[in-house]
Amino acid sequence: MKNLGCWLGILALLLTIVSSVNIKAQSLTTDKSKGWCDKALRPELLKLKEIKTGRPWFKVYDVGNDVFAIDEPYNYEETIAYLIIGKNKALLFDTGLGMDSISLVVKELTQLPITVLNSHTHFDHIGGNREFSDILAMNTSYTRNNAANGYTHLQVRNEVTPEAFCKTQLPQLDTANYYTHPFKVSKFINDNYIIDLGNRKIQVITTPGHAPDAICLFELKTGYLWTGDSFYLGPIFLFDEATDLKVYHHSIGRMAVFAAKAKWVLPAHNVPVVDPSEVIKARNAFSRIVSKKVEGKPGDFGARVFDFGEFSYMIDAKLLQ
Ligand SMILES: [Zn+2]
Repeated sequence: MKNLGCWLGILALLLTIVSSVNIKAQSLTTDKSKGWCDKALRPELLKLKEIKTGRPWFKVYDVGNDVFAIDEPYNYEETIAYLIIGKNKALLFDTGLGMDSISLVVKELTQLPITVLNSHTHFDHIGGNREFSDILAMNTSYTRNNAANGYTHLQVRNEVTPEAFCKTQLPQLDTANYYTHPFKVSKFINDNYIIDLGNRKIQVITTPGHAPDAICLFELKTGYLWTGDSFYLGPIFLFDEATDLKVYHHSIGRMAVFAAKAKWVLPAHNVPVVDPSEVIKARNAFSRIVSKKVEGKPGDFGARVFDFGEFSYMIDAKLLQ
């Protein structure tokens, strides 16, 4: 919007900025001078075993033990969903942005019945939920609200701008009408619920903070710990209107206990396979933030940025007061 005299335009722009920050501030890291098509794939992805599918919007990686990372690297969220294949059924942990059909990719990877569960109900993780009929969800009012309403085009339209999204990778997407659909929940579940896939049992661990319904998954047999957006390499955003730092502090402590017995951590953005020691470092780093042992630096949109190398925390400065 270059016409500064157009107040409606400015208002729309402000609304867009506010809604974008409230939902997910992943975009703050983007180099706005370049389009997203110019961005190279992360080098960590090149080391993984890629499975080619008929939906090139998604990049699928075999991360061992019948687990597939379903990555969306052509949008700046770089969201990663995981398909965990058991004997009797498979669990799809998140369904991505909903820009292309994730269920068609899943069908190429397994013929088993699919159960969906979301790491939390921010828009970038529930986009494909409506393509599935068996959906577990956390028993929170936040989850119920997001399932009932989805997210409007106004709330998610920044995701399809040229600097956010590589349209040549998905020319059929109607960017003018892109939004996140509501979905129907089959069953509400709580902390420590066990998802039984036949030969593997996956434990649900509630880890609120980033979002009120944030969870991790842990499988003792493989030592896999799925951390959602509560931990990933890169800037971890504690910026949503529903973010709670005290609650997050408790959750990252709980995650560190599981990380101590985990072999691999599988986060929901950026890089799909991470050493568990990073989660323990994050717990220690976050303790230093809340006890005011580190100052951080001012960042965009009123954020305070605490940089710890492989990961950083971007926290709404108001939450730190
Ligand atoms: Zn996310």
